[in-house]
Amino acid sequence: MLRSKFRSKDAALRPTKRPSKRTQQLMIDEIMRRFAAASPDPRCELYYRTPFQLLLSVALSAQTTDKAVNAAMTASYDAGLTPESVVAMGEKSFLHLIRRIGLAPTKAKRAVALARILIAQHGSQVPQDRASLEALPGVGRKTASVVLGEIFREPTLAVDTHVFRVTERLGLHHTKTADACSDVLSAVIGPQYLPTAHHWLVLHGRYVCKARAPLCASCVLNDLCPSATLSPQTAARKTAQSAALKALKGGDATVALPAAKAPRRARVTAASTPATVNR
Ligand code: SF4
Repeated sequence: MLRSKFRSKDAALRPTKRPSKRTQQLMIDEIMRRFAAASPDPRCELYYRTPFQLLLSVALSAQTTDKAVNAAMTASYDAGLTPESVVAMGEKSFLHLIRRIGLAPTKAKRAVALARILIAQHGSQVPQDRASLEALPGVGRKTASVVLGEIFREPTLAVDTHVFRVTERLGLHHTKTADACSDVLSAVIGPQYLPTAHHWLVLHGRYVCKARAPLCASCVLNDLCPSATLSPQTAARKTAQSAALKALKGGDATVALPAAKAPRRARVTAASTPATVNR
């Protein structure tokens, strides 16, 4: 499923020439350096007050937005939702609480089962090891990575649809699945940038490198990105250049030829970008 979910549908988004390993490493270091300079302390956009609440919210956020999860859960979290209270609510009441979230019936069932296991096997605490986390209902590699990074500051890289798309456009991986992407990127992103790189990439994907209409003209990575679209200024210059060349060919020497600039690479258009997938 992940394979098709994350596969880019548009070859135009894929850089055609793969850089050498050294060039790619330099590029990743520079990307991280710029993110760190622009946003030294990025925050998770899911609301939570305890590790359990974060775990629950990340599990609930599959196939839906953080905003929808926050809208459903904030009041309960402020009231002190615990594994015990989820079990006490039961599946029916919990389902009512999250009714506006996608896949609510399945998620309600899993949330109650997850809370039961935490109480029975982990003293109501969120375990700090990946194997125990991934053994919980509704918790996969991405959810475990978010929790390990956000709560325990382990150097992990959780890959969701935003992270996958942004790094694919940047030419940082050529994989087909979130897990493979995570393996490739975790090995090349400096440990000093993990786990924060997850937040930088998610926020960049949400607000700048959007699925349908990436804001390339204002992107801080524009000059590094093989998928950057033309900025309006460059497009205007190219139009003027082509008009001037046409005029010169036709013998009109009075038309000035605008200064040439290095051509940009692959072009991203709204129509050519893959469909939006939330988490
Ligand atoms: S230049 Fe465009 S495609 Fe490249 S990372 Fe920035 S927004 Fe995304």
